Amino acid sequence: MYLGKVMEIGPTADLYHSSHHPYTKALLSAVPQPDPRSEKSRERIILSGDLPSPINPPSGCVFNTRCWKAQDKCRTEVPQLVQLGGTQVACHFPE
Ligand code: SF4
Repeated sequence: MYLGKVMEIGPTADLYHSSHHPYTKALLSAVPQPDPRSEKSRERIILSGDLPSPINPPSGCVFNTRCWKAQDKCRTEVPQLVQLGGTQVACHFPE
């Protein structure tokens, strides 16, 4: 969830191994790896910008001010949850 909106939902294994939403990918990239070799090669996705106010969320996709994939459509149209593989994703341009 981001700013009170479901970004992606599904079984744990699908979320961990085949997520599609940029926010899910950013969250999972922040999880430390217990294996020191894996930890060294872990690529983190660092979100830029500040967290918007929940009482004045961005229009369209609420994640659009921090998403590296945001396009014009993201600022005007709210993405609906759609099934994609094993998860449901609210994104106009899922990965
Ligand atoms: S709808 Fe657009 S801004 Fe929102 S997560 Fe998808 S690509 Fe990013």
